[in-house]
Amino acid sequence: MSFQLKASQFFVALAALCAVTALPPLAARAQNAAIDSPQPETHGIVVANLDTSVKPGDDFFEYANGAWIKRTEIPPDRANVNVFSVLTDLTNKRTVGLIEEVAKANAPAGSGKRKIGHLYNSYMDEAGIEAKGLAPLRPHLEAIAALRDKRELARALGESLRADVDALNDTNFHTPNLFGLWVAPGFNDSEHYAPYLMQGGLEMRDREFYLADTDRMRDIRAKYRAHVSAMLKLAAFDDTDARAERVLSLEHAIAEKHISLADDEDIHKANNTWKQSDFAAKAPGLDWAEFFRGAGLAKEPSFIVWQPTAFIGESALVASIPLDAWKDWMAYHLMEDNADVLPKALAEERFDFFGKTLSGTTEQRPRWQRGVALVNKLLGDAVGQIYAQRYFPPEAKASAQAMVANIIAAFRKRIDALDWMDPSTKAEAQAKLTTLYVGIGYPETWTDYSAYEVKADDVFGNQWRSGLFEYHSSVARLGKPVDRRQWCMTPQTVNAVNLPLQNGLNFPAAILQLPFFDPLAPAAANYGAIGTVIGHEISHTFDTEGAAFDSKGRVRNWWTSADLAHFKAATAKLAAQYDTYKPFPDISVNGRQTLGENIADVAGLAASHDAFVASLEGQPASVQDGFTGEQQFFIAFGQNWASKAREAMLRQQVLTDPHSPARFRAATARNNDAWYAAFNVQPGDTLYLAPPERVRIC
Ligand SMILES: [Zn+2]
Repeated sequence: MSFQLKASQFFVALAALCAVTALPPLAARAQNAAIDSPQPETHGIVVANLDTSVKPGDDFFEYANGAWIKRTEIPPDRANVNVFSVLTDLTNKRTVGLIEEVAKANAPAGSGKRKIGHLYNSYMDEAGIEAKGLAPLRPHLEAIAALRDKRELARALGESLRADVDALNDTNFHTPNLFGLWVAPGFNDSEHYAPYLMQGGLEMRDREFYLADTDRMRDIRAKYRAHVSAMLKLAAFDDTDARAERVLSLEHAIAEKHISLADDEDIHKANNTWKQSDFAAKAPGLDWAEFFRGAGLAKEPSFIVWQPTAFIGESALVASIPLDAWKDWMAYHLMEDNADVLPKALAEERFDFFGKTLSGTTEQRPRWQRGVALVNKLLGDAVGQIYAQRYFPPEAKASAQAMVANIIAAFRKRIDALDWMDPSTKAEAQAKLTTLYVGIGYPETWTDYSAYEVKADDVFGNQWRSGLFEYHSSVARLGKPVDRRQWCMTPQTVNAVNLPLQNGLNFPAAILQLPFFDPLAPAAANYGAIGTVIGHEISHTFDTEGAAFDSKGRVRNWWTSADLAHFKAATAKLAAQYDTYKPFPDISVNGRQTLGENIADVAGLAASHDAFVASLEGQPASVQDGFTGEQQFFIAFGQNWASKAREAMLRQQVLTDPHSPARFRAATARNNDAWYAAFNVQPGDTLYLAPPERVRIC
C-alpha cells in the first residue's frame, strides 16, 4: 500500500502526460524548505503558503495551503500539481542529468549504464521511430490476424500475460490484458513465492467508466468509441467504426464481470486457491490448458485467483463472443499499450483521449520527461543505483533511520496503552514491529538486468523485451524462498510503501528530501511532514489489511474477535466520515474504497505527533514566525497535501484510487485532539467533531 497515487497510475498520469514546471536552480532548491517558497533560506513550515484569513477549524487544507493554491497554476501539460509532482520534477531533472552523463561515458557493452544510454536514446530518436512507422507492430498484428480458432486465441491470450499487477504493494489492480499475474509471498505459505491471477481486459481504468449511467460517462464512452476507431484506422484497418463498436461492447461485457475496487481491496475475498486442473470446470469457456501453455505456466500446480467471479465471467465471454471481436480487441489493445513508443500519430491519438478527455490535460509532457519516465520504468534499479550514490548521503540515511526508530517506539507505547486490546493481540502487534523491515533510501540488492537486451535503435523492442524480462523474472521466483528485503519502489520514486506480505517498508531516497525532510528544520516540521508519512506506512501494518497478516507475513487472524469488532466499529465511523466528503456536488468520496489509506493517515498522524512530543524531552519546542511547535507540526502535515488538480483528474481519482483527494487527507487532523488545542478549534467550526466523534485508531 503506497502513500499516494498508485505507481502505475502515476506513470500514466505523469509519463504519458508528464512535465516540469519552472524550477529554481538546483542549488537554490536544495535549501528551499517549500515547494516554491520565495525565501530560499528558510527551514520549517512555509508561512508564505498559508492563508491566515481562513480559520484552521473551518478548512484546514485552505488554511495550510491557500496562498500557494492562489498563486499556483496547473501547467497545460499536467493533470495536477502537488508536493509530490514538484519533487518528482526535481528528481527527474537530476535523473536526466545522470542519464546524459551515462550515455556519454561509453560504458562497457552489456553493462547497466550502457543499457540506460541506449534505452533513453532509442526513445529520444523521434526521426528513427517515424521512419520505422508501424513496422515493429506488424508481426504482432499479423499473428493476431492469423488466429484461426478459440484454441489459438487462448494460446495468444496466455502469451500476452505479464507481471503487470500488484494487489497489496502498489495496489495496482489494472491490466489491459485479459488477466494479470502478480508473484508475491503466498497467502497460505508466506515463506515461498506464489502466483496470483487478477481480472483484466479493460483499457479505461475501472469498470465504472463502462457501466456508470451518467451524462459524463456516456460522453466519455462516445469519445472512447471514436478513439478506438481512430487508432485502428492508423493501422489501416477497414470498417473501423464497426470494429470499435465490437471492441467497446466486448469491454462493456468484461466490465460487467469485474468486481469493484473496494471489493478488490478485501483480501479475505481474494484467497481462493484453484488447482490448474480446476480451471476448466470452475470457469468454463477459455481453453485453460492452452492459456497456461501460452503463458509458460503449464507446470504450475495452483494459483490464487483474486476475483473468482470475474474469471468465471471473462472465461465464459471467450466462448460466447465471436473470434473476430476478440481479434479486434487484441489488435486495438496491442496498439494502445505500445502507442508511446510508436510514431507520433499514435502517441498523440492516445494522449488525446487518455490525457485530454480522461485527465483534462491539454498538452503532452516534453519528450525528455517521458524518456526519463520510460527509463525509470524499464531500468529503474540501474538508474536508482547511480541516483542513490549521488543524492542520498549516509547522514540523510542515518537521520531518517533515527526518526523511524522514534516513531516505531511511539507505536509500541500506543499499543501497550490500548485498554480494549487483548494481551495476545498486543503481543503479536509488538512482534510485527520487531520483525518489520524498514528500507531507507535504496534496496539492499539491485536488480540484475543482464538477461534484458536493450538496443540503441529499437525502442518498441526495448519495451516489449522489458515486459517479457519482468514476466520471466517473476515466474522464475515461483516456489523459491521469499526475500523479505526485496524492494518494490526505486530510489528515485517520490512515494513510500508498505509491503504487507513481507512485513516491510520502503522509503525511497527521493521522498527523503525537501519539503518532506530537511535535517536543518525544527523537529515539529520534520515530524509533521515526513514523520506522518513514516507513521502512515507503519500503521498499514495494523490496519484492515495489516490485521490479516501476522509478524511473518502469514495470513492469520491474529486479532481476537472482540478486538476486531472494536477496530471495525471505529473504522466504520471513519468510512462514514469520508462518505460525507464531496469533491463535487454530484460525487462523494467512497469511504470504504479509501478506508485503508484513511486509517493510515489518522494513525500515522497520531504516532508521529507522539514521537514529536517525545523528541522534545520535556523542553518547549522552538517557535517559528510566531507559530508554536504544535501548530508547526500540524501545518507541516497540512502542507504535505498542497495540491491542485483538474476536475477530470480529480473525478478519475475518486473513482479509481484507494487514496482520498488531498483536501480531505489534510482535514483528517480533525480526528486528533492535539489539533483542537493547537488552533483552539471550537464547536461551530466546520471541521469540529465532538470528542466521541473523533476516530481514534490506536
Ligand atoms: Zn498508504
